[in-house]
Amino acid sequence: MLFGRAKKNPIKIADKGAVEWKYTTCGYCSTGCSIEVGLNAEGKAVASRGVGDASVNQGKLCIKGIFEHELFTSANRGKTPLLRERAIDPYREASWDEALDRTASEIKRIQQKYGRDSVAIVSTGQILTEEFYTLGKLTRGVIGTNNYDGNTTLCMASAVSGYKRSFGSDGPPGCYDDFSHTECLIAFGSNLPEQHPIIYWRLKMALEKRTFPVIVVDPRVTMFAQMADIHLPITPGTDVVLLNSLAHVILKEGLQDQAYIDAHTSGFEDFSKLVEQYDPITASRLCGIDEDTIRHVARLYAKAGAAMSIWTMGINQSTHGSDGVVGINSLNLITGNIGKPGGTSLSITGQCNAMGTREWSSCSGLPGYRALEKEKDRLEVAQFWGIDADFFPEKRGLFMTDIFPAIETGQIKALWLIATNPMTSMPNTPRIRKTLEKLEFMVVQDAYADVECTNYAHVFLPAALWGEKEGVFTNTERRVNLVRKVMQPHGDSKPDLWIFNEMAKRFERGQQIRFPETSSEVFDEMRELSRGRMLNYSGMSHDKIEAQRGIQWPCPEGTETGSPRLYTDGVFQTPDGHAKLIPVRFVNNNECPDSEYPFWLNSGRVVEHFHTRTRTGKIGNCNKFSPTPYMEMNPDAADELGIEHSSYVRLVSRRGDAVVMVQLTQRVGRDMLFIPFHFHDCVNRLTLGLLDPYSRQPAFKQNSVRVEKIDQQEAARLNFERRAF
Ligand code: SF4
Repeated sequence: MLFGRAKKNPIKIADKGAVEWKYTTCGYCSTGCSIEVGLNAEGKAVASRGVGDASVNQGKLCIKGIFEHELFTSANRGKTPLLRERAIDPYREASWDEALDRTASEIKRIQQKYGRDSVAIVSTGQILTEEFYTLGKLTRGVIGTNNYDGNTTLCMASAVSGYKRSFGSDGPPGCYDDFSHTECLIAFGSNLPEQHPIIYWRLKMALEKRTFPVIVVDPRVTMFAQMADIHLPITPGTDVVLLNSLAHVILKEGLQDQAYIDAHTSGFEDFSKLVEQYDPITASRLCGIDEDTIRHVARLYAKAGAAMSIWTMGINQSTHGSDGVVGINSLNLITGNIGKPGGTSLSITGQCNAMGTREWSSCSGLPGYRALEKEKDRLEVAQFWGIDADFFPEKRGLFMTDIFPAIETGQIKALWLIATNPMTSMPNTPRIRKTLEKLEFMVVQDAYADVECTNYAHVFLPAALWGEKEGVFTNTERRVNLVRKVMQPHGDSKPDLWIFNEMAKRFERGQQIRFPETSSEVFDEMRELSRGRMLNYSGMSHDKIEAQRGIQWPCPEGTETGSPRLYTDGVFQTPDGHAKLIPVRFVNNNECPDSEYPFWLNSGRVVEHFHTRTRTGKIGNCNKFSPTPYMEMNPDAADELGIEHSSYVRLVSRRGDAVVMVQLTQRVGRDMLFIPFHFHDCVNRLTLGLLDPYSRQPAFKQNSVRVEKIDQQEAARLNFERRAF
């Protein structure tokens, strides 16, 4: 990462011959950095640089952003549609008409034979918001399947669910500027320097001006834990215990903000009764944090004039993920830390446009945070789209993680995957492989032809990359930023918006609904649908967004710019306007280590890779830092088993096995292993992925495994095979 400071030598970047710079927004993570791509005299993308006057990144980029322009010409981009009759046949090239006709006719055939919901659609957090909105219109208003979800169920579903339960609506209430005002920060299960390097830089900038305690809760000694003032190495999957105990101490010692609780929350009595049971002595035995530290942290947080919590997958990817988010929200409600500068409950999102799908894709409901369960919302959207409201289901269908078991049992016969790669990202991939083989018809729509799921598909639709099309992304702090088209789509690949519009034309219902051709016309529809709502885009336009380098919603028409915080008036999106203090009881259903599988298996992200490496695996300057699947292991644990640094080992769980290279480090305790989740046929061959009862998000991080020695020659051969693209 580039930590430029005025007093240090300026960073010099070799002159790549760029003659023109085009504005866009980074297409990897949810930080939302404004980026300019440099084109040379031949129109080739040769460089990327951060945008100096963008408030999010102020000219900085992480390593992924710095090399993002190389994606346009990276290996194995999809160039032309591919077709085959059976998943065991070789693919042949096809025209767009042929590929789309086949897809539409198969969807119709299967729906006619098995019913509307026998077709499932699973999308992503990577495409543009206008594309999400259009896909939602196509799915909810034309195709009419209710089994439609996004891969955000693997990363953000618990945050969404927790926000809805506590505040009555999704929507992170805070912003990055809160670092500049807070007096205490707790990060739960978030390795910010690696996952969101530029958000971390914002935190560091705030700390350079003014110190305040930074507390990191993480079972692993992450990069973030190493810089923290206090590190709480919690037992995996026990965050709810710690959160209840923090609340216990705050209430016991009368440190709560009773005026805020009385004015703006409901459920205080039941909440107090529940946390009464989580005294620090009892809690310490469950969560592994000593009682004095629990008391100390609770006092620090409650006594701070403003305190904030951030979290990422350490909270979300658990069977207690939604409860963990509710617990964090409650901690902030009882201390009066919602809707004020430096006081917030801020989920740090994963993918570049995970927020866009939450807001507009209609996966879990209808556009603009509307719910299928509410008649008024169904009527509003039906009228706006010009369809019969009875066509909408009255409650949401299956989550992504329930769609695969429904394929397994024959309830779902066709699957359309859009920019997602469950053969690498879902837990228990041996089961997913078997599941995909059962489908009668499968389509993969992706920018890369070699994404692992194409091995099981019948049709491949090559999609344009982020900078080959135009539209918006929303970042972690609700900032809508503009992706300008920098480059023509590769080969004959097409923007996802074009693909959805073309698909709509092939259905009778699609011919009766308006599907605008350009993203700015789609954006106009979203503006109209958002008018008067909390999620208000009506004061934005593409040009205004670019001029301001991103605008935070709500931004009602007539306002100059957006709003940095939600709930500043203490009024929430619940029927009575009060936030809910919800008691959450801890039930230990983690897959804990035992004598047969004695290690906790944890997984997470590294800075140089993104998700399933579909992109970063092909960028030499990213891939070179960790080209091969590896595992962090404690040296003492390795010594006991006679395992050496840099040797290969086999990991075995109750689901399957995986071969990895050993990296000895004190970052993990004696009973813990950590593997970056990016590699195909690796950590998710081992994971169980029990589902959260509210969010249906899998527990990726609480699994048990054993370590076995393995023939080094054979392991090296396997490793080499898996590195080939
Ligand atoms: S921090 Fe995220 S948004 Fe910013 S350059 Fe890196 S990957 Fe892109």
